[in-house]
Amino acid sequence: MRKKLVVGNWKMHGSRASNAALLSGLREAGPWNADVAVCVPFPYITETALALTGQAMSFGAQDCSAHEQGAYTGEVSAAMLADVGCRYVIVGHSERRAFHHESDQLVADKAKAALAHGVTPIVCVGETRAEREAGQTEAVVKRQLAAVIHTLTHCIGEIVLAYEPVWAIGTGLTASPEEAQAVHAVLRMQLHAATQKSDAMRILYGGSVKPDNAVSLFGQPDIDGGLIGGAALKAADFSAICRAA
Ligand code: PGA
Repeated sequence: MRKKLVVGNWKMHGSRASNAALLSGLREAGPWNADVAVCVPFPYITETALALTGQAMSFGAQDCSAHEQGAYTGEVSAAMLADVGCRYVIVGHSERRAFHHESDQLVADKAKAALAHGVTPIVCVGETRAEREAGQTEAVVKRQLAAVIHTLTHCIGEIVLAYEPVWAIGTGLTASPEEAQAVHAVLRMQLHAATQKSDAMRILYGGSVKPDNAVSLFGQPDIDGGLIGGAALKAADFSAICRAA
């Protein structure tokens, strides 16, 4: 039995005041049966850590550098994330792949850097609408995951995987539970061929998860929780999704 995991991806939203209100709403609503985490913008990590002291909820970041340290202006290393207590880091989110031209290999290298510092990478894969319409969904997600498997080799069992169809992110369109499950099953098979830990690994679904579709998505056999964007910014919605998990 895999324990469900629900992760809030705050993206580039929030302020000290709004974060404090959101976190206090979540503190009051929790704890939940699922594991729960929030991935917050870099400047707010330390305050989030303080706000969550003594709470079951964990926290993380939304990206990290593939480099260890050095002259990389603007980058944040996995060692720094570990140093401030991050449990998770999202890597390969479609917004980073699209707006920052991150390649499959760079995403894999970031996952490797995170693991080297004991931070669990949440590796995102997913197809665009054009790729889905061209019947390439499976090929795309398998290619994206293959780079990570190849780079991490025997450590692949330590990651969290997230399937996020790009056309479903922030659009209000969600993959149906059956469509999502079909892709999750493909990913689980690919992991199975790479590691004996595949049955214990969590594969999250992301893309317009809301309180009213969370139960049916999380009810699928290979959907082990969610990566939540928009609905993670409201304590009532996010906690309802956590309850559904
Ligand atoms: P969304 O975002 O829930 O707003 O669709 C999910 C994500 O991008 O992680």
